[in-house]
Amino acid sequence: MAVKIFVDAGHGGTDPGAVGNGVIEQYVNLSVATQLAALLEAGGYEVKQYRTTTTENVLPGKSADLTNRARMANEWGADYFVSIHTNSSPNPAANGFEAYIYRLGNKAQPLAESIVKSFVSRLGSKDNGVHAANFAVLRQTRMPAVLLELGYLSNPTEALNLNSPAWQTAAAEAIYAGIYNYVKPY
Ligand SMILES: [Zn+2]
Repeated sequence: MAVKIFVDAGHGGTDPGAVGNGVIEQYVNLSVATQLAALLEAGGYEVKQYRTTTTENVLPGKSADLTNRARMANEWGADYFVSIHTNSSPNPAANGFEAYIYRLGNKAQPLAESIVKSFVSRLGSKDNGVHAANFAVLRQTRMPAVLLELGYLSNPTEALNLNSPAWQTAAAEAIYAGIYNYVKPY
């Protein structure tokens, strides 16, 4: 039995997520999540994606949709939940990579730390660390769950990176390595 990882591309459907410097979050999330899912499958993990297109599985209404993401992961029996997002701030200078978990000290923390370590070393992003957040997908999932904010669309330099196919591929590889360093597929 391979380790089961649920890969959640944040937003989608009529919800674009953050928009900054002409870049739309939901598409960045989908590209990185889809590449991450492919790497995980090739590595021997069992993988389910919430959406493999801009709309697949996405429900109307933010709260219903977030609950649906957690419900699907719970019903599938995921061992880990990884949600991919990109950030935005009123301050255009804000930058860097951060991970969120439901509570500091929970079972998701070492996975989050492993991903942060891999990501900032490979992509050269500022290390914004691991934080607790009362996000629905973190609260409602029954397995260790991490939500990653890859960078800030509101930052002109990071928006260029986030929109770059090569950077997106490197981001997926870095997240994959962070997962693999923490939990092997078998
Ligand atoms: Zn988001």
